[in-house]
Amino acid sequence: MRIMAFSPHPDDEINCAGTLAKYADSGHEIAIVFVTNGEVGSAVMDNEETARVREQEASASASVINAQFFWLGFQDEFLYTDKASRLRVLEIIRKFNPDIIICPDKENDYHPDHIATAQLVWDVRIMTTVPNIKTDSPPCTKIPRLYYMDTVIGINFTPSVYVDITPYWEMKRKMVNCHVSQQGWMKDQYDVTHEEFVKVHTMFRGLQAGCKYGEAFRVPKFFPERIEEGGLL
Ligand SMILES: [Zn+2]
Repeated sequence: MRIMAFSPHPDDEINCAGTLAKYADSGHEIAIVFVTNGEVGSAVMDNEETARVREQEASASASVINAQFFWLGFQDEFLYTDKASRLRVLEIIRKFNPDIIICPDKENDYHPDHIATAQLVWDVRIMTTVPNIKTDSPPCTKIPRLYYMDTVIGINFTPSVYVDITPYWEMKRKMVNCHVSQQGWMKDQYDVTHEEFVKVHTMFRGLQAGCKYGEAFRVPKFFPERIEEGGLL
């Protein structure tokens, strides 16, 4: 399978990182698309430097699991669905031709960039196969299946699919710690490290599913419903 995950900011891929690691390990092709540049995510660096540092951190995170790395560079906090952004997302999907797309949950997520990312994926999903809408890459061979990843710390999210990532916790932990520039926020705000924050969430979902570490997903209703076998566990 070819699995493409959409991360609105550099570090949102962590919500499905263990699952990506698991599928990468069994020979599936993985890509991570970082949609915005994360330029406001620092209190000590200016926007330009923050974006540059976060691109390197995101690339390092993708490298942990040998995922293809795509950086779209949209402005942090100002992502909208319009013709230009749709065509950009459409092209990146066609370039990879995924069987599965993982993106945020547009009905339950809290952040406008997360919701806009999911909306963009939703908006172009059928278009990916339509030949009369031209982009640089040829149309996808089939409409990708869509999975919503868990929300930040699981708020409002009712999973329909769990993935046991217990053997891949260590890789997920490595990916979290690639995002060095983000470690101060959690510590300052809540007195927990980024790793602790992610670990609690991952163990919470794991224990719900009867394993130590887990990740949760939800399958949105969409036309057309796909009836063939396959997909995440
Ligand atoms: Zn985010």
